[in-house]
Amino acid sequence: MAGTPVRPRSVAVLGATGSIGTSTLDVIARHPERYRVHALTAHRSREALLRQCRVHRPAVAVLDGEADAAWLREQLREAGLATEVRVGAGALVEVVEASEVEVVMAAIVGAAGLLPTLAAVRAGKRVLLANKEALVMSGALFMEAVAGSGATLLPIDSEHNAIYQCLPAEHRGGLGRHGVTQLLLTASGGPFRGWSAEALAGVSPEQACAHPNWSMGRKISVDSATLMNKGLELIEACWLFDARPEQVKVVVHPQSVIHSMAAYADGSVIAQLGNPDMRTPIAYGLAWPERIDAGVEALDLFAVARLDFEAPDETSFPCLRLAREAMAAGGTAPAVLNAANEVAVEAFLDGRLGFTGIGELVARVRDARPVEAATDLETVLNADARARQAARDWLNR
Ligand code: NAD
Ligand code: MG
Repeated sequence: MAGTPVRPRSVAVLGATGSIGTSTLDVIARHPERYRVHALTAHRSREALLRQCRVHRPAVAVLDGEADAAWLREQLREAGLATEVRVGAGALVEVVEASEVEVVMAAIVGAAGLLPTLAAVRAGKRVLLANKEALVMSGALFMEAVAGSGATLLPIDSEHNAIYQCLPAEHRGGLGRHGVTQLLLTASGGPFRGWSAEALAGVSPEQACAHPNWSMGRKISVDSATLMNKGLELIEACWLFDARPEQVKVVVHPQSVIHSMAAYADGSVIAQLGNPDMRTPIAYGLAWPERIDAGVEALDLFAVARLDFEAPDETSFPCLRLAREAMAAGGTAPAVLNAANEVAVEAFLDGRLGFTGIGELVARVRDARPVEAATDLETVLNADARARQAARDWLNR
């Protein structure tokens, strides 16, 4: 086929055992002539990582703990595989910096992904960004690093991938320069769309994790239910596309068929549509600027039949407003928001905090922590650590 690379590109998948990691490996397996897995990483899911090593035969695998790593080494040896097992956060940075690696899928969930994702950017790799929390925390530093290293940053979050596809190829320097007036960020509304704040108070983690359209990890599922996910995505869109918060409009679209849109000065609105399957943006990121088969079913518009739109309810779902306010406040405010939210979601999943307590906790931590200029990584990591502590103190009050 014209344009097929002469040798496969070498890929490191951070967070390989998660929802995005698994979908990435599914796409890669469809194109062995194009992609080769160099490294696979996971936190603790050693069995899942072993299964992936058997199939993809990476040069390196990374786990967080020594005992899990020793177990994996032994299993790999018995299976006759040459995969080298490394341990800990430092190993995540090493694998993305390796000279063999051309493409890094950043699919760790939460702040844990910041350092390796930033390392991949600084090393000038093609970075497929699923780990939105990394960009939310360190927006300005992250985008400066992209510009400084010449890394190719391709958004994997379906909304941002859609907007990327709807914008002119060169969209840096402010949306206005390219005739774009607004980014329309679509939201499914989550499993509790239309619910009152009173009804939300009693929902369980299982209800929150049962998303109507997308199958995802538990943290992002809860974020989708509170609309914090849309808030984080609003911040993500501002950084990726050089937009001001008021240029990003959230549109609830329950079918999740339009993944987002860009509105232009001449009245045109360009949308990207598809079935809700993350393999589409993943394949886009892997192959860009080419297009490859993602294993995704063709969109049947007759089966979809209708597309609905409504405004988000920021009274029942205050997290969206909190995120917009954090972006407007700037500096370390988004890092504080993200850290408080991560602690709150974990507490909710563990049954220590009610669903509506998530927004309440985020607001309390926001009020308790100062906004500092986010001029260096240390300040950002400090703001993250202090916000987590403030959140835990409030939970243990
Ligand atoms: P997941 O929970 O299914 O998987 C997370 C992965 O990260 C796992 O491989 C896990 O082992 C690893 N991990 C977790 N904590 C870690 C730590 N402390 N150190 C190292 N590795 C760690 O999550 P997911 O749904 O695949 O989401 C991953 C990221 O992609 C998130 O930032 C999420 O917001 C984003 N995202 C996901 C989707 C989706 O459809 N799942 C869509 C858009 C964006
Ligand atoms: Mg999304």
